[in-house]
Amino acid sequence: MKILVINAGSSSLKYQLIDMNGEVLIAKGLCDRIGVPENSNIEHKAGDVKVAKDIPMPTHVEAFEAVIEALTTGEGKVIDDISEISAIGHRVVQGGNLYGESVLIDDKVLADIEQLAELAPLHNPAHALAMRACRKVFGENVPQVATFDTAFHQTMPEKAYMYGIPYEYYEKYAIRRYGAHGTSHRFVSGRLAELLGNKDLRVITCHLGNGCSISAVKNGECVDTSMGLTPLDGFMMGTRSGGLDPSVVTYIMEKDGTSPAEMNSILNKKSGLLGISGVSNDSRDVIAAGEAGNKRAKLAFEMQNYQIGKFVGSYAAAMGGVDAIVFTGGIGENESRARKYIANMTEFLGFTLDDEKNAIRGKEIEISTPDSKVKVWVIPTNEELLIARDTLAIVSK
Ligand code: AMP
Repeated sequence: MKILVINAGSSSLKYQLIDMNGEVLIAKGLCDRIGVPENSNIEHKAGDVKVAKDIPMPTHVEAFEAVIEALTTGEGKVIDDISEISAIGHRVVQGGNLYGESVLIDDKVLADIEQLAELAPLHNPAHALAMRACRKVFGENVPQVATFDTAFHQTMPEKAYMYGIPYEYYEKYAIRRYGAHGTSHRFVSGRLAELLGNKDLRVITCHLGNGCSISAVKNGECVDTSMGLTPLDGFMMGTRSGGLDPSVVTYIMEKDGTSPAEMNSILNKKSGLLGISGVSNDSRDVIAAGEAGNKRAKLAFEMQNYQIGKFVGSYAAAMGGVDAIVFTGGIGENESRARKYIANMTEFLGFTLDDEKNAIRGKEIEISTPDSKVKVWVIPTNEELLIARDTLAIVSK
């Protein structure tokens, strides 16, 4: 069975076609600048073949038509006909309190996703647009499944997801911690359980990329996570501030007359590694600049990893100990210096890194020494595969 996995934004659409027979990636690609037809284009990859084409895409409907054309014709052709696509799985950023697992998309689910746009204004409306466009292009009979980034975190207890503000804001606006990257945390914690042959573990999963989050996963269930109402909470990221004293926000707004929209942009786009270093949001550039003597770049690297170390310590406390730590995401999978810093800081928890293994990049590998009490693993994430697996499980029912 072949499943198309979709990650739709308001002006972009990423796709992967996965053959579930052996879980093989057949093709993937990106439609960009949807809504700007004079500039829109598709980049399609099938094995070693790469195809790039400018195609007018006024809406997501034309983007899906371009995806079908790329999959069924020309050099990047991998299937004869769209009827070979049995189901479509969508990544959805926000499922609110409503969805603790993936679901088959029907009118009610679509309406819920649209309504939850209040909590994810940039993402949920785009997901709904893409789902409706899929119905049009692939037909009503091709089943579509939604996998929510927030679903894995729905098992958090109240004490972990509530904020210490008047309760009425939870009742009125559903303000609470929802978390993000849930599909990734679920994938790597599930994979670790498979590798160790044991689900009853206290695991700290560190998804460290441009956006970063950490989760505490006990016996396969998330009990706490660092991202909050939005993906701004937690610790310093590429361009996001992470958690800070809320008074900092009101202080700057009062001093500079900054509007809520401007403040949002400062905290989401101009902070983090970029804001502190002034060099880049990319950890590779920041580390290189720091090593070349740039003090602010060195500080940015230290701040981020110090904050991560503190989260690791606090999540060990939340679970009454820790059996394993997993690193994933662009930094988590590749950046040995970040892993080393965090390991040095939290070594008291009972683990020892094997420096040679820690130097390996981008591979699934245990990087702690054989006698380390706490296991440390690098596990490359694969959110698309988990969405495809959920889709298969739901449509097979
Ligand atoms: P992501 O958002 O998961 O794509 O991760 C982006 C972050 O991962 C950026 O800060 C990159 O610097 C970092 N990253 C990606 N690839 C590498 C690599 N090969 N070595 C070191 N850092 C990397």
